[in-house]
Amino acid sequence: KPARPAPVGSAESHVFHRFPKVTMPRAVSGEGVYIVDDGGKRYIDASGGAAVSCLGHSHPGPIRAVQEQVERLAFAHTSFFTSDAVEELADLLVEGAPGDLDRVYLVSGGSEAVETALKLARQYCVEIGQPQRHRVISRRQSYHGNTLGALGAGGNAWRRATYEPLLAPGTHIAPCYAYRDRRDDETEFEYGQRVADELEQAILQAGPETVMCFLAETVAGATLGAVPAVEGYFRRIREICDRYGVLLILDEVMAGMGRTGTLYACEQEGVAPDLVCIAKGLGAGYQPVGAVVASRRIYDGIVSGSGFFQHGHTYSGHVTACAAAVAVQRAIREENLLENVRCQGDYLATRLTERFGNHRHVGNIRGRGLFMGLELVADRASKEPFDPSFRVAARLKAAALEHGLICYPMGGVLDGQRGDHALLAPPFIVTENQVDEIVDKLD
Ligand code: PMP
Repeated sequence: KPARPAPVGSAESHVFHRFPKVTMPRAVSGEGVYIVDDGGKRYIDASGGAAVSCLGHSHPGPIRAVQEQVERLAFAHTSFFTSDAVEELADLLVEGAPGDLDRVYLVSGGSEAVETALKLARQYCVEIGQPQRHRVISRRQSYHGNTLGALGAGGNAWRRATYEPLLAPGTHIAPCYAYRDRRDDETEFEYGQRVADELEQAILQAGPETVMCFLAETVAGATLGAVPAVEGYFRRIREICDRYGVLLILDEVMAGMGRTGTLYACEQEGVAPDLVCIAKGLGAGYQPVGAVVASRRIYDGIVSGSGFFQHGHTYSGHVTACAAAVAVQRAIREENLLENVRCQGDYLATRLTERFGNHRHVGNIRGRGLFMGLELVADRASKEPFDPSFRVAARLKAAALEHGLICYPMGGVLDGQRGDHALLAPPFIVTENQVDEIVDKLD
């Protein structure tokens, strides 16, 4: 072990670092909502990494569950065995699910969940005798994961660019972002209906019999920074999908599992999707785990067809990962954490508005529960974004770390739209004093 760790990006480090030009601290331990580096410096984790660590970093529940499970049985391949952890996790995820979401397909992360949802949707269409349905419609600027299939399904032109020849061409409609795109002559509700109607136009243009699914984040976090849809938008989307036999896949990899104050974010929209993708907070960082929760209709369609799923991964339904996720679900229920998400979420929103509502570089503050976004602009009055060369998101990230704050800024140029955002997604166990600390440090 080297006495002095090799710095990120130095010739001595053999890690294929993603950000080799950035100086990075070395994390060594976690205590509640804090991460501690090798110099003993404490960082308050105001973003749970990227909306992952919903129980903080040292919760005894998943720690004990992982230890016990590893000692008893770490892994059993799901093509041979089921296990208590897998069965119990599926029960817990269905217990709180809307509509007829009823069957849980377990995977290891968000991109795998999105890939799986797309492949289940496709297999369902084939099995029910509609093999011509293959088109995926999603929204511009959307991010649904980084594997080729998930990236191909997303509408983030910047992320797609390098890999474009390998990606499936998709149809991308407008995102639902009232603050930026609503016209002066329409209400928020009317705006939501108008952008939802773009889905119908896209379906008609593609040929309804060829469209497999519409894929969207319930609360857009991954690129836009915690932007909830306006009232009525998703109900309209659901109606349009039903009218044309198109499956609705909601990506709640970031927004799901309690982050917005309900276990599934779509509960607050009054819609149930055909498939919902979850990850991140599901394992809360204690284990990598994701899932697709599918409606009974999808499951039955496949079972009554060929009767087996062609899709699968070696680590699907990993016993230890599922044991961690079960412990996370239990902690959320036993400690009444969704109540804390709603209550501290309100407090965070109030404090952010007080502190930054009139800030000359904050154009918009929005979000739901402990999932909040701030839009960073060069000029508050005109909402003019920062020049990309200013790299405000990267600089905010570095400055925040310097001050012992982990927040999740993102930005740059997206489909010709410039914009920078900071995402806040603190652990569900956050206290009022810690919310104050986050707001002070962000300021
Ligand atoms: N979908 C959304 C909405 C996400 O935010 C992310 C991760 N940022 C993913 C999918 C991909 O998840 P993962 O990084 O676990 O593969």
